[in-house]
Amino acid sequence: PRAAGLARPNPKRGVRGGFVPPFARKAVEDPGSAPEAGVLSAKIIELLGGSDGQLPEALQKLDPNTLELVCNEILDTSSLVQWDDIAGQEHAKEMVQEVVVWPMLNPHLFQGARAPPKGLLLFGPPGTGKTLIGKAIASNISATFFNISSSSLVSKWIGEGEKMVRALFAVAGHLQPAVIFIDEIDSILTARKAEGEHEASRRLKTEMLVQMDGCSPDSAERRVLLVGATNRPQELDEAARRRMPKQLYIPLPCAAARRQMVNRQLGSAGAVKASMSEADIAKLVVKTDGYSGSDMKNLIQEACQGPVRDAVARHGSAIAKISEEDLRPVLLKDFQMATRAQRASVEPSEIAQYEQYNSKHGAHF
Ligand code: ADP
Repeated sequence: PRAAGLARPNPKRGVRGGFVPPFARKAVEDPGSAPEAGVLSAKIIELLGGSDGQLPEALQKLDPNTLELVCNEILDTSSLVQWDDIAGQEHAKEMVQEVVVWPMLNPHLFQGARAPPKGLLLFGPPGTGKTLIGKAIASNISATFFNISSSSLVSKWIGEGEKMVRALFAVAGHLQPAVIFIDEIDSILTARKAEGEHEASRRLKTEMLVQMDGCSPDSAERRVLLVGATNRPQELDEAARRRMPKQLYIPLPCAAARRQMVNRQLGSAGAVKASMSEADIAKLVVKTDGYSGSDMKNLIQEACQGPVRDAVARHGSAIAKISEEDLRPVLLKDFQMATRAQRASVEPSEIAQYEQYNSKHGAHF
């Protein structure tokens, strides 16, 4: 994401090396101290594209504390994700590129009847790469990436969620192209009328729907894409479905994808030494039927501990003296042990429900 490589401000000279107004100076001179209420640090002002201690005009009306939260907690500057980093999910990757990446790269070509959807919904079991896909979209179009889970909007910033959403979309609009990834989006846009659904969550839902409408691709100038993710797509209400007309199923990884994940980490291509034949890997792939991507990741990590445990057992407890050369390669038996600790986290009955939902609402080529 674009914000990743920002230089640290020079504390003596201010963000752009010029005059530092008094209200920003405190934060610049003493970056360790918590900013006073209503005072944004110079770093945040710079992140938001301001200069000389002044926010860009479009953001000046927003509450500074909310802006600070958006930048610190939602703006995601972690590493880039390439399509190849996502094992399998070929159908989803192709569709995502065509439906949202191309239009973001060339908005003038994709207007009118070719206009992209306002939002994209990724649904499927947890740990299958939905967040990775969101990050890959942002990386591919050099967009700023905002990553927020709805449950934190609902519970962490109680009563502030609505303000956060408004600030989030304003900042995204300002730092476009931008991708806003909202995990567990069902918890905001739920169809359920929770008894005692209080005023705050109703207002949050309304604000979210209003802001999603603002993501409308009517204008080639507005390049903000909303990507919602959910494990409970059936809980979304009609208003939400209308705003995310493309709903894409992100299933458990197929056998080839599981094989790819193992091969990437182990053996000649991977970082960890292993001694596993093709037949061993084939057995492992069969054994991990039903595992999610994150189950696979945990399983591989667990199996890679096997040689370390053996080495510790051989050398006594002198862990600090053990070097990588002392470790034997990872073997099939390490995976056999690891499958006892890491089982498939998704029930087959849940998969049947996703498939049913997919045949009714999912986007297909
Ligand atoms: P979710 O679908 O819940 O958003 P994530 O994208 O956060 O899942 O995946 C969690 C972790 O599991 C990732 O960081 C990655 O390590 C691993 N993972 C999941 N799916 C894949 C995949 N298709 N390819 C590679 N790694 C994956």
